[in-house]
Amino acid sequence: IRVRPLTCTETRRGDQQVVHSLGDGAVHVSAARHDATFGFSAVFDAGASQEAVFEGSGMRQLVELAIDGFSCTVFAFGQTGSGKTYTLMGPLAQSETQPASPALLGLMQRSFTCLLEQSRSRGSDLALSASYLEIYNEQVRDLLSPGPACALPLRWSKTRGFYVENQLSVEFESLEAIVSLLLQGSQRRRTSAHALNRHSSRSHALLTIHIRSRAASACPSKQGTLCFVDLAGSERVKETGSSGELSVEANSINRSLLALGHCISLLAKPRGKRTHIPYRDSKLTRLLARSLGGSGITLMVACISPSSRCLSETLSTLHYASRARRVTSRP
Ligand code: ADP
Ligand code: MG
Repeated sequence: IRVRPLTCTETRRGDQQVVHSLGDGAVHVSAARHDATFGFSAVFDAGASQEAVFEGSGMRQLVELAIDGFSCTVFAFGQTGSGKTYTLMGPLAQSETQPASPALLGLMQRSFTCLLEQSRSRGSDLALSASYLEIYNEQVRDLLSPGPACALPLRWSKTRGFYVENQLSVEFESLEAIVSLLLQGSQRRRTSAHALNRHSSRSHALLTIHIRSRAASACPSKQGTLCFVDLAGSERVKETGSSGELSVEANSINRSLLALGHCISLLAKPRGKRTHIPYRDSKLTRLLARSLGGSGITLMVACISPSSRCLSETLSTLHYASRARRVTSRP
């Protein structure tokens, strides 16, 4: 769980802080008619640095496992404006001119650095490539291909599971190259300003790093992936002042998050009691099918605001995350 600081606006209008970290992974929500404590693997409060989140969330281990050939996924979940993009990319991800200060870089840049360092220190010959997709209004688009966005077909095969046809995969060897792919792609993402967040992401974005080790002749080569998912925020239409096109977007965002929540609830049931998992209900759940329930290793960072005004969204994020925590996979 990551709790962001109160924003200037929230402080100015006198919002109460209703979320407190109690240490040892416990987080406490106290407001007029609510008093609840939740337990997680780790809780980062408003004072936690980007580095603390990287080191304390298990992200470094995830990078190492991906190099070892596992499918690893980290996804940021939470209400619009709760700090998902900040956690993944840092504060200035949207600006081309001013790069963020190194201390504020997010999980993604830190993972890239770690990946490239590891690949150098292991002396192994790793082939790295990246693909970057967004799901906007239930359409999958390639964020790396130049030119106007066109929808790509999402297919299923016995060997590959769900996959996107014709997606671009770009090879890279340096930190500068992958960071520049990230920035290029993020600028193509659909964002629109509304009441809760000036640069609100209106799409789910998935950046996948493919890691192939060209191993010594005797052993088979390994292929791992490291996937970063920046989910569009959950939101209530009336609160954001969305109308027209914006409310169509909000509805498809909410629908896919609902589908995701539904899959997570079912996956959290004991194996014997599990029924069919409806991955096909949305593009998002299809693309995340492997990360969620199968052979992958997944880190979920649930972002919340400490403000009393966000109480109900915060509680729903915490419940959602508690369910996600009960899911076990077999990597
Ligand atoms: P989301 O992606 O969930 O919609 P953002 O990451 O864009 O939200 O964050 C909303 C605002 O809050 C941004 O202005 C961001 O810089 C700020 N913010 C979020 N998390 C933090 C944090 N941990 N520390 C400082 N500022 C933060
Ligand atoms: Mg965002």
